[in-house]
Formats: sequence, structure tokens, C-alpha cells
Amino acid sequence: SPLLDLRNVGKTFSNGVSALRDVNLTIREGDFLSLLGPSGCGKSTALRLIAGLTTPTTGALDWHKALGGDCTGFVFQEPTLLPWASVFDNVWLPLRLRGVSREKAAPAVSELLERVHLTGFENAVPRELSGGMKMRVSIARALVTKPRLLLMDEPFAALDEITRFKLNDDLLELWQDQRFTVVFVTHSVFESVFLSNRIVIMAARPGRVSGEMTVDAAYPRD
Ligand code: ADP
Ligand code: ADP
Repeated sequence: SPLLDLRNVGKTFSNGVSALRDVNLTIREGDFLSLLGPSGCGKSTALRLIAGLTTPTTGALDWHKALGGDCTGFVFQEPTLLPWASVFDNVWLPLRLRGVSREKAAPAVSELLERVHLTGFENAVPRELSGGMKMRVSIARALVTKPRLLLMDEPFAALDEITRFKLNDDLLELWQDQRFTVVFVTHSVFESVFLSNRIVIMAARPGRVSGEMTVDAAYPRD
């Protein structure tokens, strides 16, 4: 069922740059939707609008289901982890901010750390981790509140190919199990085909959606 409609959405910044023009798009519950296109075509702006970090200049976003900030998880390209806090404490943080004690949070934190293959690294601090491991912590942190919508902005773009491939696999497995909705911004055709069931293409004309395709089990998913 539909979660969000972007209706004739446009975004022009104060410097006159139009990042989005007349975008129409429906995000459905359970989608793994990739927003695919080259740098500068407006993908991040679209994601920031969905995240509520900025407002459209024209058109509107119509939510079919009220999703508070609590129900939305974010993963950016730069994992913004607390540098002095352990892996465990970084993943606990969103629950802690909602008043959940360390002890009460422990089962959920441990389970997610297992899912992202970080069991045994609970007490490590970010500077002791590789880029891929930091991204794993970021994903666990974004999912610990069991969000219904996960927004990801080129999360793996800075990682080497092998690490990326592994993270794609693990993310797909998490999505298959937990069925949160994902909007995934990427400039990688491979990533979008591997991960998504829908690809929204922003390419030919910057700021506009050029087309859309459905990926029908391009890769065995079971
Ligand atoms: P993408 O994520 O596809 O690389 P962006 O959404 O980041 O594209 O940017 C789309 C266009 O809008 C680019 O030309 C970019 O320079 C411009 N832009 C993005 N954010 C701002 C801003 N806050 N102020 C002015 N221009 C911006
Ligand atoms: P809005 O008009 O939506 O409030 P802002 O002007 O506050 O957007 O910028 C949002 C973010 O984008 C800021 O963090 C800003 O530093 C960054 N930004 C500004 N100009 C650009 C640009 N040309 N390309 C990409 N990002 C930009």
C-alpha cells in the first residue's frame, strides 16, 4: 500500500539552482526503491525532502501513514558515529535517547550486531574499525528502533568493491527478514539492480524523473 506520494515536487534553492522539477513518485510500503542517477541530478535533495530535512518549493509530500521521526532511520555515506563511544553504545544511542536502559536495550543491540557480523566487537571504538565495519555499525544503529522507513544516501560509495558487495548482501538479507521500506540513493547501476525491487531513474534531465523500472527477481532472493 502507498506510504508516501510526492506530487509535482520542485525544489529551487536560494541561489537559483533547481534541484528538482515536477517530480511525481509513490513510495509503497515494503519497497526497496533505488533512486538512481549521476551526481548532481537531485537524488540527495529528494531524500532530504522525504526525511523532512528540507521543504519543497512547489508541490507537496502526502503521507498516507503518519511516520514520526522515530519510525525513520537514516544512513549517510559518512558514518557519523560517536568517536569515544563503543560499538555497543553507538547502536544503543537511539534507544537510550528514548529512555531505554542499557540492560533493556541489550537483546535488540546484540541481535542487530549479530546480523551485521559485528559480534565480538561490542567494546571496540570507531577508530579501531575499518570503513566497512563503521558502516555496519551505522546500519545497526539505524535499525535498532525498528523503523518502518530507512533512508540511505550513497551509503557504500566510499567503500571498496568487495566490502560493498558484502554489505549489499547483508542489507538485502535484513530487508528480506524485516521488510522495512527503503529509499536508497545511488549512482551505481549494479547496486540498484542487485538491491531494489523498484528503480527510479533520474538521469537525462537533472532534477527530473526520467523513468522507472521494476526489478523482478533479477537475482535469486530466497
Ligand atoms: P545528487 O544527490 O544527485 O548528487 P543533489 O540533490 O545533491 O544531487 O544536488 C542537486 C543540485 O542541487 C546540484 O546542482 C547541487 O549543487 C544543488 N544543491 C544541492 N543542495 C543545495 C543547496 N543547499 N543550495 C544550493 N544548491 C544546492
Ligand atoms: P534549504 O534551502 O533546503 O534549507 P540549505 O541552504 O539550508 O537548504 O542547505 C542544506 C544543506 O546543503 C546545508 O548543509 C548546506 O551546507 C548544503 N549545501 C549548500 N549548498 C550546496 C550545494 N551547492 N551543493 C550541495 N550541498 C549544498
